Formats: sequence, structure tokens, C-alpha cells
Amino acid sequence: MNQLTFLGTGDAMGVPRVYCDCDVCTEARLSGINRRKRAAVLVHGDGEHEPFMIDCGPDWRSQMEDQGMRMVQTLLITHAHFDHIGGLPEWADACRWLGVKGQLYAPREVIATIQSQFPWLGRHMNFLETDADIELAGWKVHSWKVCHGHNGYSYAYRLEREGYTWAYCSDAIDLKAAEKQPLYGLDLLVLGTSFVHELAEFSSRSVYDMVEAQELLRDLKPDQTYFTHMSHDVDIRQNYDLDQGITLALTGLKVKLGE
Ligand SMILES: [Zn+2]
Ligand SMILES: [Zn+2]
Repeated sequence: MNQLTFLGTGDAMGVPRVYCDCDVCTEARLSGINRRKRAAVLVHGDGEHEPFMIDCGPDWRSQMEDQGMRMVQTLLITHAHFDHIGGLPEWADACRWLGVKGQLYAPREVIATIQSQFPWLGRHMNFLETDADIELAGWKVHSWKVCHGHNGYSYAYRLEREGYTWAYCSDAIDLKAAEKQPLYGLDLLVLGTSFVHELAEFSSRSVYDMVEAQELLRDLKPDQTYFTHMSHDVDIRQNYDLDQGITLALTGLKVKLGE
């Protein structure tokens, strides 16, 4: 069915931030259009294979409940930060209860970090490397390392199936020419933008803001872009006058990937 579902569109802290009383966090608490769980998506490919999730943050459990889903057996992980892997112990427990071996796909070095943080996970899942291209639910999946600024490195994924190409790049900033290469010629790009315009010193930052992201997009020219990984700086109710083809992703939003 070639479909993408946004399970979470928030930054590392989610929205509302527990300690914060700003307008966006207050709205998120009251009516909730700005309520954002940690960034993750569900990807459907061909009808034969189960869908898989990209990333498994600490909101995994409630994201599954939101979708009315009892289990997802395959995960693709971008990097080993808490907001992207914090749900793994709960996922492993679900595997244990259901008597299944989860399939966790990630680059070799990300797997090594996960195994050192959660040494018991291997009992309930197989770790599968993505350093060479793999195939998931009919998608050909290519991974590569991207600059994550102050936070080091993350990975992005480019997925291709039946002539449709899209990419998931939630945690990146200041991409160099080689890192941008796989992001050309896309039908759709999911890009992380934590702030509208982040004023903090550049050396302390780790994810694009919307101003920089639009500059990047004028170069990459994907047909469609969805911004995700958004902090409480972003108010979905505002009109930020973004370039054509850009949408702020909402929790639960479903996007068709091709025909
Ligand atoms: Zn993140
Ligand atoms: Zn990160």
C-alpha cells in the first residue's frame, strides 16, 4: 500500500515539555494540535510484508496505542539517542511476551551502541546491519551518515520502490556535499527542523531550523517535504509562510508514497 504514517513529530523533549508554560506547550496541554510525541514513522510497502517503523523512542507504547496496533516486528533505527531508541526495552518485552524475535535494522556502529546500552536486548531480537543496502517491505533501503552538529552523527535513509523515492532525515544539520548527495531527485523528503529560527550559537546546535532547511530545499528540490522533529518553538497554528511544497507534519498524518 506504499504509505507513510507519522507516529510522532516532536523533538527530543516532546511537546508539551513538562516544565514549560509557553503558549505552544499550554495549547498542547489543552486542546492538543501541538501535542507531539518523539519523532517516528510507520512505513508500509508491498502488501506481502508487515509494515516497519523508523525509530523507537520513549513514546513507542502510546504510539502503538494511537494506531490501534498490537505489535510491529521490524524496526529501522537512525541513531542511538534516547528520543530514537528509548522504547526498545518495551519493544523487547513485547517480543518476549508474544514469543517473536524482533528484527532491528541499523548501521553497524549504531547496533554496537544499542547493545552496550541495553545488553539484554539480544535475547528478544535479531540485529541486522544496514551498511550495505537492504530490502524492507519491498523498499530498497540505503543508509548513510549525516552530520548531527553538536550531537555528533546520525544516519539518514533513502527508500526506493517502483520508481518512487523518498528519504527520512530527522536529525541533521549543516550537511556537506557528499552527505547531501542521496537527497537529490526525491519525490518526498521527511526532514527534521527543531526550531523555526534557532538563535543559539551554531556550535551548540544539532538539527536544522526552518530557515536553513528552506535554503537546503531550494538546492535539493524534492517534490514534497514534511518537517518533523519539531520542538515547542513551532506552533502548528501559525503561518510561517514556508516555500511551496513544505508541510508541517501532524501526528497521525498519512502520506501516500507513489501510486
Ligand atoms: Zn532526535
Ligand atoms: Zn539525535
